Amino acid sequence: MKDFIIVGQGLAGSILAWNLMQEGCSVLIIDHFDATTSSQVAAGVYLPITGRRIVRTWMADELIPCAEDFYSSLGKFFNTDFIHQLSVLEIPDSVKVYNEWQMRKSHADTGKYIARFHAPDSFSELNCPYGAVELKPSGYVDLKKLLAHLRSYFVQNGSLKDAVFDFKHLQVSDTIRYGDIESKNIIFCEGIAAQSNPYFRHLPFQPSKGEVLTIHSELLPQDYIINKSVFVLPIGNHYFKAGSTYEWKELNNIPTEAAREKLSRQLKELIRVPFEITGHLASVRPSVKARRPFAGMRSGIPNVGIFNGLGTKGVMLSPYLSRHFVNHLLKKEKLMPEIDIAQYDDLL
Ligand SMILES: Cc1cc2nc3c(=O)[nH]c(=O)nc-3n(C[C@H](O)[C@H](O)[C@H](O)COP(=O)(O)OP(=O)(O)OC[C@H]3O[C@@H](n4cnc5c(N)ncnc54)[C@H](O)[C@@H]3O)c2cc1C
Repeated sequence: MKDFIIVGQGLAGSILAWNLMQEGCSVLIIDHFDATTSSQVAAGVYLPITGRRIVRTWMADELIPCAEDFYSSLGKFFNTDFIHQLSVLEIPDSVKVYNEWQMRKSHADTGKYIARFHAPDSFSELNCPYGAVELKPSGYVDLKKLLAHLRSYFVQNGSLKDAVFDFKHLQVSDTIRYGDIESKNIIFCEGIAAQSNPYFRHLPFQPSKGEVLTIHSELLPQDYIINKSVFVLPIGNHYFKAGSTYEWKELNNIPTEAAREKLSRQLKELIRVPFEITGHLASVRPSVKARRPFAGMRSGIPNVGIFNGLGTKGVMLSPYLSRHFVNHLLKKEKLMPEIDIAQYDDLL
């Protein structure tokens, strides 16, 4: 008998499974690999301040140290690097916005994350007539690499079954039975597929499609993540990811000409040096109306749970919140009300 079946090996399922295993639990992950899921396509950026409104990201003080520590430790375990700590250069689009950033420097919640102000036109490769604002700690996680390493590890340990999970094989009573597998609990981490999960389709997801380009430029600086209306993230050898778009209607993994044109136009406004587009991907983020993830066991069914809704910030959220969820599962620690799915029981 397993302690946990986890459905889905995206960021949510992988980190939850890892943390449960660290606590000595036996886990079986059921996941059908799909290269177009949110975690596979994501740029992996984390940053402490949300640019447009210049406010501190929810729980940044707790989430960022936990995330940096988690991804660094995991890198040490696998003898490689998953996390790349890089400052973010915010490029204001007016004097008004630049002044707003300067005001935020003296605010208790945002000030410590604003590391430096750069004078107008400090970067000849960029259009930055109103200067630039440097933020840290920030950076990105190579999610494709991280998930590939974890997948191999789970497979080697006999903890991952590559299969499509089918509810017709699931029996829920005091224990969980899935085909010939028995488990004490099952936790669903299926990303947007949770919208058709019979136990959790009442949860208020608001999925958003995102598209991201890969570009090549010999002359762009590689030591910053640049952020204006579009972010530009150096991924090595003069390649960069550039994105992302937001779209709430056409929820599929098909890259569109419209998004490519939009991103390309935004890049031309930001970048003064030549670049070429070498790749283009799309996926759908498991976002939530209230912009807070979902965690918890289904009301009245204490062995069926969910960890999902990481939205646009899975990299920052998942290490801290999965540890918190594990403490809830194993040590009965109370879940934060913002993420506890019990708040949606009236939608059942
Ligand atoms: C274009 C784009 C850019 C992004 N950029 C960033 C960023 O810079 N920073 C950031 O923090 N976040 C970013 N995100 C968001 C990030 O991808 C998500 O927050 C996070 O990866 C979601 O992880 P997840 O595990 O919940 O879902 P998913 O990644 O969707 O994983 C779900 C897994 O479940 C599996 N699954 C589902 N149903 C079944 C089934 N029936 N049987 C078997 N397996 C199943 C899927 O195959 C998949 O492996 C971005 C997303 C997109 C689309």
